[in-house]
Amino acid sequence: MEVKLASSRGFCVGVEGAIARAEAAIKEHGAGQVVSLGPVIHNEQVVRQLEEAGLDQSGDVETIDASKAVLIRSHGEPPETLKRARDRGLTIVDATCVLVKRAQDVVGQLHDEGYHVVMIGDPNHPEVRGVIGYAPKVTVIDQDTDLDEVLPSRGRLGILAQTTHSPEHVADMIAKILKHPYREAKIVNTLCLEVTRRQEAAIELAREVDVMFVLGGLHSANTRELARLCREAGCETHHLETWAQFEPVMVEGRQVAGVTAGASTPESVISTFARELEAL
Ligand code: SF4
Repeated sequence: MEVKLASSRGFCVGVEGAIARAEAAIKEHGAGQVVSLGPVIHNEQVVRQLEEAGLDQSGDVETIDASKAVLIRSHGEPPETLKRARDRGLTIVDATCVLVKRAQDVVGQLHDEGYHVVMIGDPNHPEVRGVIGYAPKVTVIDQDTDLDEVLPSRGRLGILAQTTHSPEHVADMIAKILKHPYREAKIVNTLCLEVTRRQEAAIELAREVDVMFVLGGLHSANTRELARLCREAGCETHHLETWAQFEPVMVEGRQVAGVTAGASTPESVISTFARELEAL
């Protein structure tokens, strides 16, 4: 089978940085002495490798032994969590991506400038839960939100978005917001260019091939967005984590397959998948 790879795919600088910080912290503090607050990235294989190297995991700073270091992953955390970690005497290893940090700063600045802050994003995503902690009040909206119900009836809005959303989705949401009578709306672009490049490359490839494979964690927001965009481009698309989930029926009658991957997917997973697919 002919296999084409997306020109931009896989690990982003934020994820590479978080893995490097985790490895360096294990080296500095010792195996079993560093605890990640949630999985470092949305990729089971990488999380398992780091666990084997000595990185523990916990869902709450309260359960971490005070002698240990806590790793803040690339999605970041709200300030109360960092304060609780400091109060408990934990050493903080901060691997928050710089672009997520910028979104955290933007939320605070918009609030300080007197805007009603609106974040376009998934309210259950850890990045969003962290970012909204940097202002006393932020309204989070996604495509299912009833805007009439949650937005203020008038005033000045300060708008930002979850870093992994597509520009098209954010533009759609802004158009819906602007149907309401605001005298001012300040939009700060917090989208991640690395994600945008992967999305453009995926759409381009989806238009050329018979079937698309998008590799990455099933809970990874940016991987799910890639799969959604490929489907929207009119291509049959399968979102898989690894080659283990592949089934021959997925390529029956197809000649050319495209492969791309989310920002948490290592190149080894992509190359193994492409090699196996080519060998069919
Ligand atoms: S996808 Fe972008 S914002 Fe998210 S961790 Fe990677 S570089 Fe940072």
